[in-house]
Amino acid sequence: MSRSYNFSAGPAALPEEVLAQAGEEMLDWQGSGMSVMEMSHRGKEFMSIASQAEADLRELMGIPAGYKVLFLQGGASSQFAMVPMNLLQGRKSADYINTGSWSKKAIAEAGKYCDVKISGATPKGEFTVPAAETLELNSDAAYLHYTPNETIQGIEFPYVPETGDVPLVADFSSTILSRPVDVSQYGIIYAGAQKNIGPAGLTVVVIREDLIAEPMAGTPAMFRYGTLAGADSMYNTPPTYAWYIAGLVFQWLKRKGGLKAVAEINERKAGALYAAIDGSGFYANPVDPRCRSWMNVPFTLADPELDASFLAEAKEAGLVTLKGHRSVGGMRASIYNAMPEAGVQALISFMADFEKRKG
Ligand SMILES: *Cc1c(COP(=O)(O)O)cnc(C)c1O
Repeated sequence: MSRSYNFSAGPAALPEEVLAQAGEEMLDWQGSGMSVMEMSHRGKEFMSIASQAEADLRELMGIPAGYKVLFLQGGASSQFAMVPMNLLQGRKSADYINTGSWSKKAIAEAGKYCDVKISGATPKGEFTVPAAETLELNSDAAYLHYTPNETIQGIEFPYVPETGDVPLVADFSSTILSRPVDVSQYGIIYAGAQKNIGPAGLTVVVIREDLIAEPMAGTPAMFRYGTLAGADSMYNTPPTYAWYIAGLVFQWLKRKGGLKAVAEINERKAGALYAAIDGSGFYANPVDPRCRSWMNVPFTLADPELDASFLAEAKEAGLVTLKGHRSVGGMRASIYNAMPEAGVQALISFMADFEKRKG
């Protein structure tokens, strides 16, 4: 068996230790005589898996009392609709910050339910985030939504927007658990699991309890935070196996020393890769250095004609899924928590060697 270093943006690499443990427990989870996949979500075995995962996530993120943690389906993309359906509460508008591809999708969906006001618009095509002082907040906005990490553009906010009493809603899909956050600054934090939490199919939502209220008329049961929270995420059959794997990832993060320790590793990994890109005359990263992502690092080669051979040779060297998103081109190295420092070092060495031979 040989595992590659997988730089996929998502579904992304999982920690090898987690996969090995899941393998050992596959046929018989802790003497239960069955796989987690085969268990009733209402039985005591799965209930213990579910509550342990929630407790570990609360501890890792320091989620205060007064917040619910939901383990849902539908991806971050369902949250694009659930947020306005549940939070508008009769208001006609919401503020959105537009920093890239995922913000745009959230904005398009919200536009079906309310008047979207763009706060602190960034010039088209620019890889940056608006300066904090340029954010205008509209006084009747139901909430402000932003994307702390734009997975496709490789942009990460260096600050948390200040919204006063207006609830702050954030799509944390590609940066959750990469560093400590002050959850009390947020009304809702949501994330598709397949980047930095676990397998695709699970969506984690952390929501302040006072925001759980009667949604707009016609909202389906599965899109009501109240229904889902009231049933402890078991209104219908939850994604049990993905929830279990997420729980193993949370325990792995705790063994690594928690989010402060993980953040130091992430900063080192990203710092080394950006330094290698900036230090070469051959590779380039288009993002404003003030807001470069620790998780997704897009880069281009001086000669795009070499892209195909770069990818083919990288694959030979065990470095896979480096092709950039079709909307941005070039390469993208996603270096989430599960990417070991050795993987980033292997990529840096390969890049230097490739440049020496072809640059
Ligand atoms: C991947 C991603 C999404 C989409 O998530 P799904 O779970 O596929 O709906 C949304 N927002 C961000 C920031 C992402 O990285």
